[in-house]
Amino acid sequence: MVAPRLEIDLDKIYHNAHELVTRLAEHRISVTGITKASLGSVEIANAFLQAGVTGLGDSRIENIKPLRLAGNHVLFSDVPMTLIRSPMLSQVAQVVRFTDISCNTEIEVIKQLSFEAQKQNRIHQILLMVELGDLREGIMPDDLIDVVGEVIGLPHIFLKGIGANLACRCGVVPDATNMALLSDLTAQIESVFNLTLDVVSGGNSANLRWALSADSRIGRINNLRLGEAILLGRETLRRQPIDGLSTDAIKLVAEVIESKVKPSLPTGDIAQTAFGDAQPVSDRGLVRQAILAIGIQDIDPCGMQTPSGINVLGASSDHLIIESSENKLFVGEELAFELDYCALVRAMTSPFVSKIYSSRQGVPPAYAFGKMRSQTLN
Ligand SMILES: *Cc1c(COP(=O)(O)O)cnc(C)c1O
Repeated sequence: MVAPRLEIDLDKIYHNAHELVTRLAEHRISVTGITKASLGSVEIANAFLQAGVTGLGDSRIENIKPLRLAGNHVLFSDVPMTLIRSPMLSQVAQVVRFTDISCNTEIEVIKQLSFEAQKQNRIHQILLMVELGDLREGIMPDDLIDVVGEVIGLPHIFLKGIGANLACRCGVVPDATNMALLSDLTAQIESVFNLTLDVVSGGNSANLRWALSADSRIGRINNLRLGEAILLGRETLRRQPIDGLSTDAIKLVAEVIESKVKPSLPTGDIAQTAFGDAQPVSDRGLVRQAILAIGIQDIDPCGMQTPSGINVLGASSDHLIIESSENKLFVGEELAFELDYCALVRAMTSPFVSKIYSSRQGVPPAYAFGKMRSQTLN
């Protein structure tokens, strides 16, 4: 079989998504399925939708566009698509054209979206993102009311709601305090402007522990945007497996191209390697060393969970060097790894890694989706 490859088990992804959708529904929280780690994979988006997500989201218009245009998939043309990264000014026309909703923090951009939406005779919906402490995107809470005031005066823009994103840049944990602030801000906006916000999107996979713990006050939060937890089956604060979810829905398989007994210490003077300073190595005498035909161009070598008895020693662009303490590996043999988020994103992005989808239960293709449509619309 072709190598290297990602083996993507759509049944497991469906199962993970369905579990999270069901558990969160008990707290009246809907799920937007985030496809960015899979580069907007139609297959994965389809599994998300089957599992009951109420919309799809991605950080890049380049991923959303093919989903929207995917063949004759009527389905994707009706599913609410959210751009979850603030639009580039240079892309507002495409944002209006290919998405229904975008997350925003800059009035300048929202004005352009309004202008474009008018030109295209569409209504563009926005979520205003609020800074809650992680110091990535977001309007400072004190400025929010003023921004809302400007936004609701704009033609062809509909303020769908507000949102926040934590645990991405600084690792700030979603908790009772910051989530309560988001709820309070929702109530403030509603009372000042006498309106109702449809969506209060509390965050990403890092919010699951807060959302699913029995004593949480959910307040006004009614949506989460989930990618990693669905694909990898782990919460993202400590990367612990989530009960009942599969952590091996996606596996990376690579092929051995050299297998020898070599010294563990290099010979000769040591200067820089292809990727900067050489890492110190310990002398373990002779070791069983093998090379896999995959490299830093395709994966993050630190983000691969190795099978037992296998250690990653190092990597260059096209070579992954491993040590096998138990068995000799054979040339042509394949090894499978679970991946962390960073390694997954790289492997998904690499054109050298084939993506092989499987579904024993046969997740129906996207166009079989008609009956879901009314459900996924709001
Ligand atoms: C990436 C991202 C998400 C999804 O994060 P996961 O950890 O994959 O669940 C949600 N919202 C925003 C704004 C993002 O950038």
